[in-house]
Amino acid sequence: MNEPPPAAGTTAEVVERYPYHACPYARALADRCPQFRIQVDPDPRELEEEDGMEADPFGEESDAAGCYGLKQRFADRVLVMTSDSCFMNCRHCTRKGLLGNAEVVRSDEELSACIDYVKERPAVRDVLLSGGDPLVLPDDEVMRFVRAFGDLEQVDVVRVCTRAPCANPLRVTRDLSQRLGRCGKVWVNTQFNCAAELTPDAVEACLNLVRAGIPVSCQTVLLAGVNDSAEAMLELFRALQRARVRPYYVFQCDPVAGMPHLRVPLERALEIERACAEGIGGLGMPRFVADVPGSTRKVPLCEL
Ligand code: SF4
Repeated sequence: MNEPPPAAGTTAEVVERYPYHACPYARALADRCPQFRIQVDPDPRELEEEDGMEADPFGEESDAAGCYGLKQRFADRVLVMTSDSCFMNCRHCTRKGLLGNAEVVRSDEELSACIDYVKERPAVRDVLLSGGDPLVLPDDEVMRFVRAFGDLEQVDVVRVCTRAPCANPLRVTRDLSQRLGRCGKVWVNTQFNCAAELTPDAVEACLNLVRAGIPVSCQTVLLAGVNDSAEAMLELFRALQRARVRPYYVFQCDPVAGMPHLRVPLERALEIERACAEGIGGLGMPRFVADVPGSTRKVPLCEL
């Protein structure tokens, strides 16, 4: 793990509560891109108290499914925790207080139990490989998860949820992309939050996946100081389309403790959404939504 960057004040306290980590690529990008630096560097405001915010509003730490390392909030989907680390610890991460302590599926027995769980529920057709970031694992380990679920007839989609194309794009090699593509069911969900993150290496990572026949979608998080203007968002959506990545969702920050300085007020978010809809065609326009605890769907911002 890298040393925290030097910063004034209470940064050491912040890092104690919400750890800092950035792989060399992410650190270098943060050092030259102020919008990316906001997502990487600890900020003393993370320790400010905020009404209504919780460490785990979606109950991700709970064992409600009764299957180690597997979470289920929706009838047709399950999430499998494949790792408890990432290429960087995003300061806006929903799991920022949970990463490092998460239940992670490692043994063959744990993986078999997850497969049995899915088989016992024929409605499940979409398996999310998440964590942490599955691509911190070696290729063979990634493929072990992909094959285990991709081989199930009832499963139509194996979603690899990874920020690697943005935070460590050289990890997305042509070889790994082709292995993932051969499964025939893999979709990649990634996260880019500003156009500057689409470096030549990042674009190449996305194109490796696309050329391997994998649909790639982007889930952006609306973040103050990063992308809280229609101009910044439109620049991002256009850059994503050039990289053949579908802008899929823009999320309002989750109601998670530790990110008060990154939240964008709802009124402002709606203004940005309206302006974006006038600035780009439907293929480039993602849905602006919020994940609401207890809801069985992503809620459009206009319904909040
Ligand atoms: S890559 Fe995703 S899971 Fe990992 S810290 Fe960032 S937002 Fe959280």
